[in-house]
Amino acid sequence: VNGAIAEKDWAEAVASVQSIIRPGAEVLLACHVNPDGDALGSMLGFAQGLQQLGVTGLQCSFPGPLSVPDPLHMPGMNLLVPEEQAYTAPDLLVTFDAASTSRLGSLAQRLDSAAMSIVLDHHASNSGFGKLSLVDPDAAATALVAARLLDRLGVQYDLGIAECLYIALVTDTGSFKFDLTTPEVHELAARLVGSGISVGAISRRIFDTRPFGAVKLFGEVLGRANLDPAAAQGRGMVTAVATLDDLVKHNQPGYILEALIDSVRCTAEADVACLLKQVSEREWAVSLRSKGGADVSKVAVALGGGGHRLAAGFTGRGSADEIIEAVRAHLV
Ligand code: 5GP
Ligand code: MN
Repeated sequence: VNGAIAEKDWAEAVASVQSIIRPGAEVLLACHVNPDGDALGSMLGFAQGLQQLGVTGLQCSFPGPLSVPDPLHMPGMNLLVPEEQAYTAPDLLVTFDAASTSRLGSLAQRLDSAAMSIVLDHHASNSGFGKLSLVDPDAAATALVAARLLDRLGVQYDLGIAECLYIALVTDTGSFKFDLTTPEVHELAARLVGSGISVGAISRRIFDTRPFGAVKLFGEVLGRANLDPAAAQGRGMVTAVATLDDLVKHNQPGYILEALIDSVRCTAEADVACLLKQVSEREWAVSLRSKGGADVSKVAVALGGGGHRLAAGFTGRGSADEIIEAVRAHLV
């Protein structure tokens, strides 16, 4: 399956990778800020594929502090370097799951300095950057695009590669529940499971384990959720707001809130779900979800972010009420 990507682009990507399989070549892989399972998993899985092919001078990075949430610890993390230490002019740069250069922080500078750059992504909102753009908006995860390239390179999925790609696939498909869960997704999953990964243990770690403090925290934030039946052209919007005070009170790290949107979006009376996660006094990470009536990527892009039709996000500045009102205003 090729999806939206032309065969000549695959051929160019394969040739570019093969040309850096030589001693001394510097290869930098980069994914988006605050990496999720797909960003990290597709990047680190691909990295181990390159190692299998004999690539040596290999670095992986993402902007910001080099911390990875416990549930997302996976093979290949030994390859991670802070953005400041990343090769300044690599022979090859490959980006993963980043829809725009702003998501790459200072690593975006390497798009100009790298001899070759390849963009692997699946966001319809991808702004089109990099010398070679391999973007398939119909792919459920960037991992699917990365796997197509690994297959063309003749990489065999060992345990490490398989665990990374599986984590990417299982997170971006919501455990194979979302609309883009195609036969190709299940076929890739079958191959990954076939290489011996522990599906139960991975799922428990990523989806079904959180500290008791987080259980209480979720309860408190959900207890304050608000349903606005008139919003989104009468399709309804449910909103929830998690503050820094909530995190402090329950002694939880910010990343623990990533899973909370799934408990908000199940609201039957709302097509749109909106979760505000406070980052600082007047800055919020906003998650948007739609059941199909609204295109939330349009809302997110209009407010400076990006994403997919049914799952998108942006950074909001102002009071929580102001941001909710802005989202509401863009849903008409
Ligand atoms: P989440 O709500 O899980 O953080 O993100 C959902 C989707 O929205 C992801 O596919 C992600 O790419 C996109 N997204 C979330 N936050 C931002 C943001 O601040 N900027 C951009 N460009 N996209 C975002
Ligand atoms: Mn993704």
